[in-house]
Amino acid sequence: MKLIRTIKEMKIASSEYRSSGEKIGFVPTMGALHEGHLSLIDRSKEITDKTILSIFVNPKQFGANEDFKKYPRYLEKDLECAKGRGVDVVFSPTEDEIYTNDFKARIKMSDLSDRLCGNFRPGHFDGVATIVLKLFNITNPDFAFFGEKDFQQCVIIKRMVKELNIDIEIVTIPSIRACDGLALSSRNVYLSVEERKAASLIYQSLKEAQRLVMVERSSEVILKNVSKIIESTPFCNVQYASICTNDTLENVVVVNKKCRLILAVMCGKTRLIDNIELDPNEKTDL
Ligand code: AMP
Repeated sequence: MKLIRTIKEMKIASSEYRSSGEKIGFVPTMGALHEGHLSLIDRSKEITDKTILSIFVNPKQFGANEDFKKYPRYLEKDLECAKGRGVDVVFSPTEDEIYTNDFKARIKMSDLSDRLCGNFRPGHFDGVATIVLKLFNITNPDFAFFGEKDFQQCVIIKRMVKELNIDIEIVTIPSIRACDGLALSSRNVYLSVEERKAASLIYQSLKEAQRLVMVERSSEVILKNVSKIIESTPFCNVQYASICTNDTLENVVVVNKKCRLILAVMCGKTRLIDNIELDPNEKTDL
């Protein structure tokens, strides 16, 4: 496995793969790797010839009062994990390699970026779309892999790729969860023992919503029930919960076809996000 630190070297490696006819899979991450990230790598290994993993904690997607400084960084451990999983290249540039002091470019996916999480994290998705496009241009992959855990991010990236005619196939992967259902996240390390225990209510509430939608079509009623379950513990507060369309993320008032329940929960000081598909017409075996 190669560790590459510069854009120039990364571009050379990628063009060598391409010129020998190999398909490139790209997995962008901010590191602190867990099984969720590794599931993206596994999928890339299945359908491509070379897998490039990027590890870059992107300052431009963090707000002024967010956790950029304390975001977990474990490069050595990540490199071991990546190697064990068969990654071909880890691209881990420094901040200076990626951004000049007067960096001006911003990709803004208009209202898609402003709703849901965007409403509470202004500028976050502009930062995400910008770094993803930049990394696409540097790694030049055929496929790129994203987790459904960040559902809004998946929608934004797919739309960006479509509208800007980027020749990369976006592959989305279901969320990997802990035994009690909590979606794996690099931020879960911030949780205290009590908070971690309480956080399992998030998935319980989502599963309950899947059950409820069989008999109740009102989003308002479903969402009230979700909040009631999550806020049954003093450790968790729902920041927002929304039922929205899969592709445009617009609010759904009455659930009569497949859509997505998306939420953010403050568990102590830690912000956790999750989502689940709601399909009123499918009898799920819950
Ligand atoms: P991050 O390092 O948090 O920016 O995540 C990098 C990629 O891993 C994104 O595409 C995430 O959606 C994905 N990811 C994060 N957590 C999970 C999870 N629990 N299951 C599947 N994919 C995940």
